[in-house]
Amino acid sequence: MLDKAELTTQLQARYKDIKKPEVKAVMRIQDEILSALRDHLRGVGFIEILAPIIGPATDPGIRGASQVSFDYYGTTYKIMSSMILYKQMAVNSFDRIFALSPNIRLEPDITRETGRHLSEFRQLDLEIANATYFDAMAIGEQMVTKAIKRVKINCADDLEALGRELKSPKPEFKKITHHDAVELLTEKGFKLNQGEEIPWEAESTLSKSFGDFFWIIDYPRTARGFYDREDEARPGILCDFDLFYPEGYGEAISGGEREYKYEKVARRMLSTGEVLEAYRWYLDMLKEGTTPSAGFGIGVERLTRYVCGKEYIWDSVPFPKVPGIVSP
Ligand code: AMP
Ligand code: MG
Repeated sequence: MLDKAELTTQLQARYKDIKKPEVKAVMRIQDEILSALRDHLRGVGFIEILAPIIGPATDPGIRGASQVSFDYYGTTYKIMSSMILYKQMAVNSFDRIFALSPNIRLEPDITRETGRHLSEFRQLDLEIANATYFDAMAIGEQMVTKAIKRVKINCADDLEALGRELKSPKPEFKKITHHDAVELLTEKGFKLNQGEEIPWEAESTLSKSFGDFFWIIDYPRTARGFYDREDEARPGILCDFDLFYPEGYGEAISGGEREYKYEKVARRMLSTGEVLEAYRWYLDMLKEGTTPSAGFGIGVERLTRYVCGKEYIWDSVPFPKVPGIVSP
């Protein structure tokens, strides 16, 4: 594990590091990434909305991280771990929406070892009305490819200063099912179960074995939150996906089609021990009938880390919040 005391000392002195040419190069590249993503999305009909930061409930499917709760005028509120439920509300207003959404997840200390977990990060979150998960994946790969192209053109000096030889992605990206990914990893010696998420180490191994970005699709119901839609023709299989970076950088995007039928969502919530009362507005919305949609979130700092070729995600954000570390 990385030395906690050393990292704390380093991050406490961020006001010094933020002046370094290398940090400035990363921040310029991040600025280019953000404007490229926004330009691309606006160009294909999305409008940007403001993300919520707090609410009575937030995404519980956060793989071992803790949510932050606080008292809001006598009611328990959460800081958003993801704005997914609000995106489902927003597609009742516009067909294509996106938001730059801040998320807080108190990730366990051990996640520092992955180099790709922060406890505060941002997702570029988007949602498309009446879309399939394949529609959403097409948007995802075009958007990432465009952003990388723009960085290569407009930030060539910064990439060179960082020593980063950034490859151009070649869509369409390969798609493998979760089932086949688990089989492939089992052949490589990992001990995995079909019904579960793929552990971080195994994800990195897969991410090294493909030469380009790739998708894993069709996760099992038992591995994901109540909001990923189950395929009625294939019970137990979800219409969802993750995008993976090449070179061992791991997961970039998670998304899928959304479950929008009240009975199905309530049943899945109860099966995982959720308290329905906390989700009242969301369940009321589903009961009255809401627009079916698909969408995803891409971690902005993870994209920056990949583009800049950084080992640690905390070198890809101006004010890093690293799991287990107290810093400004
Ligand atoms: P999730 O809903 O957990 O799949 O998160 C959506 C996306 O946000 C992921 O695909 C990552 O790109 C990013 N992400 C999730 N958790 C973290 C984290 N702890 N630190 C940085 N980025 C994250
Ligand atoms: Mg994910």
